[in-house]
Amino acid sequence: MVILGRQGSGKGTQSGRIAERYGCVHLSTGDVLRAAVAEGTELGQQAAGIMNAGGLVGDDIMIPLVQERIGKDDVVAGGVLLDGFPRTAEQANGLEAMLAGLGQALTIAINLDVPVEEVTHRMMARGREDDTEEAIVRRLGLYDQETAPLLDWFDERGLLVSVDGLGEEDDVFARLEEVISSRLA
Ligand code: ADP
Repeated sequence: MVILGRQGSGKGTQSGRIAERYGCVHLSTGDVLRAAVAEGTELGQQAAGIMNAGGLVGDDIMIPLVQERIGKDDVVAGGVLLDGFPRTAEQANGLEAMLAGLGQALTIAINLDVPVEEVTHRMMARGREDDTEEAIVRRLGLYDQETAPLLDWFDERGLLVSVDGLGEEDDVFARLEEVISSRLA
């Protein structure tokens, strides 16, 4: 499964719940990168500046990082929910190639839909280190430019389902559960 949605759409929170409900691995590339920054690894040192500026870490770094993780036994056995990947056309093509190599296929790509005014408001309120006004504007711009076109890419493959991300967390989760369960059935 893949979940797409603007920064601040509640993707991270809902992804954790989905992974628990369906017994799959939740792979958040943002979490992987933040852990690398905290540990001061080479990856973290490469990524920190880019993340704080609201930029995108290079495809040459992100694709091998995901490839390495999704070949592991727990993912092959229980499946995976990708949160924050793919974010560019290059990453989407990379994902298609790596899944084909593993003999796996995507089940669903969920677009968690929240309007730009609402996510801006939410991000200003949560105050993460990379949630400065400048970085937020840059991230949302890159989302429209690089990531939103992927909605068509998934739709062309018959994988896209949009879910309204406005409202109470539990209500949003119930909507997600409905579309995922019907797709898995
Ligand atoms: P947000 O959804 O608010 O951007 P994430 O936790 O998904 O938060 O990502 C945080 C940052 O990590 C991004 O702004 C970007 O710099 C980097 N990042 C995460 N995933 C990717 C990716 N697939 N490609 C490039 N950069 C990424």
